[in-house]
Amino acid sequence: MAIIHATNPATGEKIKCYDLFSHDAVEAVLDNSARSRSEWASLSLDGRTVLLRSLANVLRTQKKNLAELITSEMGKLIGEAQSEIDKCAWVCDYYADKGQQFLADTPIESDASYSYIAYQPLGTILAIMPWNFPFWQVFRCAVPALMAGNNILLKHASNVPGCALALEQLFQTAGFPSHIFSSLLISSNQVEAIIADKRIHAVSLTGSEKAGRSVAATAGQYLKKTVLELGGSDAFVALEDADMDETVMAAIQSRFLNSGQSCIAAKRFIVLNSVADEFIERLHMAIEKRQVGDPLNPETTLAPMAREDLRDILHQQVSGSIDQGAVKVTGGKIPCRPGWFYAATLLDHVKPGMPAYDEEVFGPVAVVIRATDEQAALRIANDTRFGLGGSVWTKDAQKGENFARAMDCGCVYVNGMVKSDPRLPFGGIKHSGYGRELSLLGIREFMNAKTIWIK
Ligand code: NDP
Repeated sequence: MAIIHATNPATGEKIKCYDLFSHDAVEAVLDNSARSRSEWASLSLDGRTVLLRSLANVLRTQKKNLAELITSEMGKLIGEAQSEIDKCAWVCDYYADKGQQFLADTPIESDASYSYIAYQPLGTILAIMPWNFPFWQVFRCAVPALMAGNNILLKHASNVPGCALALEQLFQTAGFPSHIFSSLLISSNQVEAIIADKRIHAVSLTGSEKAGRSVAATAGQYLKKTVLELGGSDAFVALEDADMDETVMAAIQSRFLNSGQSCIAAKRFIVLNSVADEFIERLHMAIEKRQVGDPLNPETTLAPMAREDLRDILHQQVSGSIDQGAVKVTGGKIPCRPGWFYAATLLDHVKPGMPAYDEEVFGPVAVVIRATDEQAALRIANDTRFGLGGSVWTKDAQKGENFARAMDCGCVYVNGMVKSDPRLPFGGIKHSGYGRELSLLGIREFMNAKTIWIK
């Protein structure tokens, strides 16, 4: 039987082996999910609301253990893992508070005596999720979908199998009926057959462009709805009148959170020439304060990366950019210690054609692109195949808003760090994917907006 390992990124040591599900085991999960579907879809909204509140309580009660599990499998700082669990509880509370309002029928005037939209669940959603926020990414997708009356089958990333099983257990502990949320321990080459299966009605994927293309192609072949949340190369634009203290503080937080492994991290710092030297000097000072170390130690400020292959790709991107003329201000090397650490890195004078300009840089590497003026800054911000998020920093709120409206991406924050928030729609355009998670739009993605017309 095929197995997968969980490996501790801070040490490189294997933690535990897990058997992948056999064909028969996958069949049983699909059958059970299909059988439990109609009962779940017909449960009252009050009933689902109570379960979401219970889930939030279970998360808060188990926060310590869950955070340690996250850190042991994918390496993030323990404080960040605890915040991730808090955020999962928040999204449960949010849809417990708002779900009934979002799912209410919408009356529409027409030639009928009464016409309206009724929102009904699609069925069983296959959620293919990544390791970088192994609980939050799952909750962001699953909680609105479950509130809407769908079931979830989770195919989690292969490096976080313990998290995958703990997630299923959480729903059980919170009192959800069996088979409403199930984890499948399978490899990605088992996914195609599952998407094709009649017992699956739609697919949500968060991950790489490559996985997105493959999953969307299969789902397209079987005419199943998809939501794709793929990579990003978010611009962080510092204009001449930006408040430098605030801007640099946000820059460091946004780039180095989760060891830089976030789809909405600031990946390209586009800075006007007139303030570039000051920005870089201050950012450099802040970067030098980052301390690599054991992510379970609350004093550590730079965690390892999640996998060795991801660190190798990052190092190639950095080295390739330096070879092509980028200036290394600091970092650019693999520290001499066990685990998948990468030195906090700052690259200046990054230009088109360099990997650090053209590709998503998924790790603790700050990339500065200098711009001659605001128009050039906007052109550079939009000069990417990605379109997830972005931010602009200026004391002139109107200028910031105009800039935000001109950026080609799913969200722009003016004088704020890009973040996901249950109250606001989240998702991208271009190669960052399509569809929206969270907020009103997120709960409607996996629903049939059914028109009812009565004479
Ligand atoms: P992947 O896209 O390979 O993995 C994400 C999820 O998709 C995992 O569950 C994975 O399963 C699954 N998957 C991968 N390929 C397929 C496929 N062909 N069919 C079905 N499922 C598939 O990302 P990586 O972990 O390899 O990371 C690579 C890069 O992707 C990162 O460097 C980053 O650029 C981007 N990324 C973006 C994320 C985001 O938040 N948007 C999150 C993670 C990565 P399995 O693990 O079993 O392969």
